[in-house]
Amino acid sequence: MNSRRSFLQNTLLGGLAAGTADFWAKALPAFEKPDKNAFPVVIATWAPNLKANAAAWEILSKGGYALDAVEAGVHVPEADPRDTSVGYGGFPDRDGHVTLDACIMDERGMAGSVSFLEHIMHPISVARRVMEKTPHVMLVGEGALQFALSEGFKKENLLTDVARKALEEWKVTSKYKPIINVERHDTIGMVAIDMQQRIAGACTTSGAAFKMHGRVGDSPIIGAGMFVDNEVGGAASTGLGEMVLRTLGSFLVVEEMRRGVHPQKAAEIAVKRIVRKYPKQSEEAQVGFIAMDKRGRHGGYAIHPGFSFVVYQREENKVYESAGFLAK
Ligand code: ASP
Repeated sequence: MNSRRSFLQNTLLGGLAAGTADFWAKALPAFEKPDKNAFPVVIATWAPNLKANAAAWEILSKGGYALDAVEAGVHVPEADPRDTSVGYGGFPDRDGHVTLDACIMDERGMAGSVSFLEHIMHPISVARRVMEKTPHVMLVGEGALQFALSEGFKKENLLTDVARKALEEWKVTSKYKPIINVERHDTIGMVAIDMQQRIAGACTTSGAAFKMHGRVGDSPIIGAGMFVDNEVGGAASTGLGEMVLRTLGSFLVVEEMRRGVHPQKAAEIAVKRIVRKYPKQSEEAQVGFIAMDKRGRHGGYAIHPGFSFVVYQREENKVYESAGFLAK
């Protein structure tokens, strides 16, 4: 390359890099001077996930990586047969299949996802392998299973007796109507910031109980069930996935925070968007969001009261009861 051209190119790239830094400094006034004591921090959907938070904290408090923390955190409900909406023990679809959806995202904005995956206890770890070992973001169904097996994951039966019995009972009426907050330990969505202020997120679920075979919800869709942007923060959702899919809820929350909106307000904006667009469906179904910005400030909000979330920060693992927009 002649020297004039390379000089021009270098100058241009240098200018661009400096310009980008300036742009962010101006665009994100809310992220100046974060309180260092705010880190590490982890937030997750639903009160029973205090244990998941604790598993993530184990890693974070030792200076570990946010991505490792969210993966280890969501492993807890994935392996717990008493949690009937995540992983092992999850309620099946109406044909008796436990089909799992999960996604993960790191501080570089890289992402991995699996959907309609059967027989694997920890779909989140398969999602991470998709991110790290394939040129793709998302693998589904049989292909996802083949990939998992080739990576050494074990094929297991995830349908418990309790879940099989619940399906038998459901078949008596076969009414498909997800009930607001009935489990109170729905999908887990988790966002963590480590000591180096790297942000990661994870989301994992067995989806809506007794769904149609082949149904995929919001949870494995980057931007719907979960989204993080290291410049801004992260968000995740739980509840009736169809309403989150149509509004790309987690992305919306993060984009609101990008404008400097507090995470609590950002979660409220996403909930209100759903209610405004789908007023009738919103009366009958729950959606909740958690949100956390790069400063470690957090919030959560839902269509109906009864949603809860958990935050581990400054050595304290705490349950927050979310307000609901349609509180009676
Ligand atoms: N959001 C999940 C889905 O629609 C389910 C849930 O959170 O309960 O698949």
